Amino acid sequence: MKKSLVISYDDLWEGNDHWEEFEKFAQEFPDLKITFFVIVGKCTNEFLEKVNQPWSELVYHCWSHHRKDWLSWSKEEAKEKLLEYQKYGFGKGFKAPHFRITDEICKACDELDFWVCSSPTVPIKNKKYWYTYPKDGIVLKYPDYDEYNDHLQNKNFSECLVILKQFCSNNKPEFKFISEVIKIQ
Ligand SMILES: [Zn+2]
Repeated sequence: MKKSLVISYDDLWEGNDHWEEFEKFAQEFPDLKITFFVIVGKCTNEFLEKVNQPWSELVYHCWSHHRKDWLSWSKEEAKEKLLEYQKYGFGKGFKAPHFRITDEICKACDELDFWVCSSPTVPIKNKKYWYTYPKDGIVLKYPDYDEYNDHLQNKNFSECLVILKQFCSNNKPEFKFISEVIKIQ
């Protein structure tokens, strides 16, 4: 049986997208699936339409990474923000920058049936969740799946992508979006 590979990239915004490289990647691997965590405040509507592809899963990350806007959201505000981007085809998920999530957002996600991405070092109690180890640009191997996560601003992005493609050629994994592997508690 093929082993699953879950690929995700943090901090997608217009100008920090490497989009031509991803388009090539998708041509080379027709079954490719990648989850992108998007900084929505730095994206135009046209850009969000461009990056919404059958092989991409877009997920709300934050408005602006450095203003810590998400920390002050009430539960209702969080719901509003999360739902706003559904019209651009976003997945029903959320990942807080630096895994700094609040109880209000956790409640909002549970009530909206959104999954939350965190790290094993920052456990959460959400109904639907996924833990990613923050190790940029390295394929991490687990008994029942492999995972790759990187930041688009990684200065070694392209070198890491070459290694990832090589891994895909050699192992012929079954690509999965995070939404397809989330755990339920
Ligand atoms: Zn981030």
